[in-house]
Amino acid sequence: MDVKVLDTTLRDGEQTPGVSLTPAEKLEIAKILDDLGVDIIEAGSAITSPGEREAIKLITSEGLNAEIASYSRILKGDIDAALECGVDSIFLVAPTSELHIKYKLGITKEKLMDMTSEAIRYCKDHGLKVDLCCEDGSRTSVDFLKKILKLGEQEGIDRFTIADTVGILTPEKSYDIFKEISKVAKVPVGVHCHDDLGLATANTLAAVRAGAKVVNVAVNGYGERAGNAALEEVVMALKLGYGIETKIKTEKLTKVSEVVEKIFGIPVPPNKPIVGDNAFTHEAGIHVDGILKKPETYEAIKPELVGAKRTFVLGKHVGMKSVKKMLDELGIQVNDAQLKEIFQQVKYVGDKGKKVTSADLEVIANSVLGKEIKRFLELKELVAVAGNKITPTASVKVSLNGKEIVESAVGTGPVDAAINAIRKATKELQFELVEYHVDAISGGTDAVVQVVVKLKSKDKIVTAQGAGSDIVLASVDAMISGINSLMRRLS
Ligand code: MN
Repeated sequence: MDVKVLDTTLRDGEQTPGVSLTPAEKLEIAKILDDLGVDIIEAGSAITSPGEREAIKLITSEGLNAEIASYSRILKGDIDAALECGVDSIFLVAPTSELHIKYKLGITKEKLMDMTSEAIRYCKDHGLKVDLCCEDGSRTSVDFLKKILKLGEQEGIDRFTIADTVGILTPEKSYDIFKEISKVAKVPVGVHCHDDLGLATANTLAAVRAGAKVVNVAVNGYGERAGNAALEEVVMALKLGYGIETKIKTEKLTKVSEVVEKIFGIPVPPNKPIVGDNAFTHEAGIHVDGILKKPETYEAIKPELVGAKRTFVLGKHVGMKSVKKMLDELGIQVNDAQLKEIFQQVKYVGDKGKKVTSADLEVIANSVLGKEIKRFLELKELVAVAGNKITPTASVKVSLNGKEIVESAVGTGPVDAAINAIRKATKELQFELVEYHVDAISGGTDAVVQVVVKLKSKDKIVTAQGAGSDIVLASVDAMISGINSLMRRLS
């Protein structure tokens, strides 16, 4: 392979403000990263806490293909903690900029070099691979970087990484530094970039062009402050932009992004390259028309390549052909005049700034066709309670195919409890809640919220929404509308 991938989702990624993972969660992520084809997993920093060590131990005992590394400062105690966890290698971090040496460590350059040598020797004596990383390397003189590299190579390091710790590089500067270092390095050179200027991916690519052989990345670009270079962006840009391959099985990228997003609890922005919800979503009529004729007209990246699905949404930019296509998918037949009428109504709703889901389109179409919409499921009663010192609980009464059903359930909050109660009441229907999404339309505590759900059964997928100032009711309405739509499509 041309370039190796060091994934730091579990170390730098976990330093995303507000994120703290349990050992079981870290293990789950390590397994999917390994399955994705990551070469090196930086599993954490062993010195951090007993829980962190438990997590790293779980990961090293799993027998994964990837090399498992722990972050460590140039301190014996840090290395001992990593050794206790049975890692393959140490991501050994030595601050090298004058700022860091003088103000953070308060030592001389000579002292830093002594400590670095000693730490490397200690790792090598214990049979560990060493990836020596220059922290704040982008603000370190190239001469000093070369000095540290030489020192490291004399002590037997296996890789040499330069970190743009504060995200201040530009692609040109990155290229220059990595060119200078790659010319003299005898070990593979790694690049570790942060996205403070939105340049993490560009700087990483420039470093690779200059000779770097290892890219440090994190799933969804998670990481300190603005985050690290995003794994999915770097891998796809290397592949499509430069013809450089990694071991990453790109068709798994979307799934990995979703799993990590869920565990981290940090939403991926919809416009995020490769993995954002909108990355393969088309609305504008001209685009949809082009794509239906030949996908390449408006899609430079094939969605299948990253395991994503092309979707079309309806809104004010919609074209007649998208509406026709969605109606076809819903199994609704219309003549030209009816199509035109439905199209106008979709535009009208879109103009009001609203989303048009597949269930909404069905309602619009049926009203135009003068058909009564069959409702299999109706909500009769709903009670949801939550507060201090009680378990959030909800009970519902629904009519399902004319039969009355009463169910109750608990949950993590009133919305979860209410949805669980609905699911219990409809358990005879086999469906999966694929997505649940809330938007507040106005800003206050009396905000109108819009809830969109995506439900799936067999190969049928529907989207539906509910809105109002009561988030529990809006959520339940969205579910009921989605279930009805799904049942109509399956019947
Ligand atoms: Mn970092």
